[in-house]
Amino acid sequence: MIAMTSENSSPNAAAPPLQDNFGRRVNYLRLSVTDRCDFRCLYCMADEMQFMPKKQLISYEEILHIAAAFSALGVSKIRVSGGEPLIRKDVVSLLRSLSAIPGIEELCITTNGSHLQQLAIPLRDAGVSQVNISLDSLQPQRFKQLTRYGDLAQVLKGIAAASQAGFAKIKINTVLMRHFNLDEVLDLADFALSRNMDIRFIEEMPLGEVSSHSRSAEFISSEELKAILDRHYQLQAESPGLTDGPARNWSVNGYTAKVGFISPHSENFCASCNRVRLSASGRLLLCLGNEHSVDLKQVVRSYPGDSQRLQAAILEAMLIKPEQHHFDLNQAPQILRFMNATGG
Ligand code: SAM
Ligand code: SF4
Repeated sequence: MIAMTSENSSPNAAAPPLQDNFGRRVNYLRLSVTDRCDFRCLYCMADEMQFMPKKQLISYEEILHIAAAFSALGVSKIRVSGGEPLIRKDVVSLLRSLSAIPGIEELCITTNGSHLQQLAIPLRDAGVSQVNISLDSLQPQRFKQLTRYGDLAQVLKGIAAASQAGFAKIKINTVLMRHFNLDEVLDLADFALSRNMDIRFIEEMPLGEVSSHSRSAEFISSEELKAILDRHYQLQAESPGLTDGPARNWSVNGYTAKVGFISPHSENFCASCNRVRLSASGRLLLCLGNEHSVDLKQVVRSYPGDSQRLQAAILEAMLIKPEQHHFDLNQAPQILRFMNATGG
């Protein structure tokens, strides 16, 4: 386990809970541990990517210090993401240390699945309770086309390993693009539901400039998808859970697993936003669709071990959390950072 420099990592009953200027409670932290990835998914990255120099990467000790400060302020759920989190060295030991932070009730990871075959059991043993796996096609050639480098067979082995490892929950994340994989919506839903895995369909967000496709031409609204699914499944709206945030979930008659939609365009979800993100360079991003941020790595490096100062910086950051994103698929992207820099 990684040693923490934090003086105070226990939940702080006296600290005010994290709340922004719009009355939204923040109880969920996403951590990007790297911007690098072994895939180059068309919607996520450009073909030629410039990754951050490794020396700018936030260290595990710094991540733990920041995570402990969030937990002391009432954050109970952490998701580790990237880039591809499972390619960062010793990520399992980071997860083990994160799961030991008092007050962290849910520790989740989002992965492309390429390293899950080897890591599913170590991740479970480290305290990860939920794994989200990205899967946009069940056709090997198309999978390669969408991810540029991915090997479907390897990812499917990873999904099987995760399924056997016995995580509390596994979710499949799917970004559908009209001319690439819309025809697989039912196959993908069947794949997930029949394995007792939730599936969530995500509308593509205009983060970073891509030349492989037109984001507006590929757009499919969640409503249109739901209409397709409705013809085959009986879907019933679920009431939102405490940490669901922007996802809208539907139960499916005959299955335990659920179908969800993340619909930044067709159904603005900002009013229910409950999360903030730490980038791999240690920048706290207050909104996926805006650049408002605070450099927490700088705070940690300037005041080593000073939890009070870190908590104060986090509380202050809440005041600049924007009310909403302004994604517009018909304009050039306003946000030039790609999703891999942000942590999904
Ligand atoms: N590499 C891991 C993976 O693919 O699951 C974790 C990082 S990835 C950035 C996290 C999630 O963001 C994935 O489910 C991916 O499909 C989604 N994603 C990436 N770029 C996106 C975009 N432009 N719009 C919507 N979702 C996107
Ligand atoms: Fe990599 Fe995940 Fe982005 Fe695909 S979505 S390029 S797997 S970070």
